[in-house]
Amino acid sequence: MSNNTKVVKFGGSSLADAGQFRKVASIVLSEPERRFVVASAPGKRFSGDIKVTDMLYGCYEQAFRGENFDKAFDAIEERFNSIIRELELDISLQKEFDNIKDAFAHRAGRDYAASRGEYLNSMILAAFLGFEFIDPAPYIRFDETGVFDLDTTRALLGERLANCEKAVIPGFYGSMPNDTIKTFSRGGSDITGSIVANAVDAVIYENWTDVSGFLIANPTVVENPQPIKTITYRELRELAYMGAGVLHEDAIFPVRKAGIPINIRNTNKPEDDGTFIVAETAQTSEYTITGIAGKKGLSVIQIEKDMMNSEIGFGKNVLRALEKNGISFEHMPSGIDTMSVVVNSEALIGKEKAVLDEINFRCHPDKLEIENNLALIAVVGRGMRKARGTAGRLFSALAHARINVKMIDQGSSELNIIIGVEEEDFEAATRAIYDMFVLPKM
Ligand code: ASP
Repeated sequence: MSNNTKVVKFGGSSLADAGQFRKVASIVLSEPERRFVVASAPGKRFSGDIKVTDMLYGCYEQAFRGENFDKAFDAIEERFNSIIRELELDISLQKEFDNIKDAFAHRAGRDYAASRGEYLNSMILAAFLGFEFIDPAPYIRFDETGVFDLDTTRALLGERLANCEKAVIPGFYGSMPNDTIKTFSRGGSDITGSIVANAVDAVIYENWTDVSGFLIANPTVVENPQPIKTITYRELRELAYMGAGVLHEDAIFPVRKAGIPINIRNTNKPEDDGTFIVAETAQTSEYTITGIAGKKGLSVIQIEKDMMNSEIGFGKNVLRALEKNGISFEHMPSGIDTMSVVVNSEALIGKEKAVLDEINFRCHPDKLEIENNLALIAVVGRGMRKARGTAGRLFSALAHARINVKMIDQGSSELNIIIGVEEEDFEAATRAIYDMFVLPKM
């Protein structure tokens, strides 16, 4: 396969109506290297609209309960028919609709139902572009336990696409060993795009969405944040874990493994470069930090015990107490005789007493308490490794903004510094950090 092949994936808002389809076609057809197109189901056309995937879940729910689902199904048909009409395409999906409706009545499965949005939308897009339509079900495979099988898929899909010049492939689903349809988790068309890029050894995986890539900070917190031009997979992982959205987390693995960069692009602003996600980059980052992300809703279990540092197995016992209660921890900064374990408050609700009792029983601490309303902020950047004084600048920015830092955790990779603040300080702290590192260009 020629190695200049590009795989392009378009999200639901990029394919929500005929107008968006036209933008997509002009993007795809402007470069002959854009040979394989992965499509989502039609998303929201305006705020308050319903995504076709959600309409399908709702409709199938009615069918499953044995209720009449005609009206809900008609509404889905109309979403697709209006696109076909407005694009003046000479095709009819009536036969497909009839088959799908029949399958709903026979309870063909929730995953099958949800997958039909991508399936039908890709048929329309293939007709509009004049590309082949390829159903991924026989090629994108899951194992008996429902885990995606990259090796089998790469072999099957690679072979199928080697014999194809240009195609549209529905995102979001594949099939189980018994050939029933299985979907990825929500937003999973991103994963399909990554899998296709892996299978054809693409030069790049372009992921087209409705924003021009990642921003240095959350735009609901910082006004007009700068875009991130280049980010490494590792930096992205740190930021995504802290809540920075845009790309499905599982979409990274197949391309990362093959060393294929991802370019996040904006269908509504194709002139923007977007963000490049790469394995390694020689390009120094524009700022010392690459991005800031954070999350609220955390609690800290504070543990103190004299001579804790010399007690073998102390940490293990604390974590055992959490494990026994089915709680995973987010961070665990420790001092000489103190240890803090940061956990999701939601996971702790109703289990506080059981957890404290268990720690008391196993560890006999001198002091043990839970503090709530903590927020974590991750300051991430490959540039921090080389820059001196990053921590100094960070903490002076926070001090100037009169923010009390409750916790500090720096990973040994020097790729990130995580700080804990009161939830009510979260926004001000994020802005202070942004202003310090990004506003005056350093
Ligand atoms: N249509 C699916 C969803 O809404 C998958 C996707 O768009 O990636 O989650």
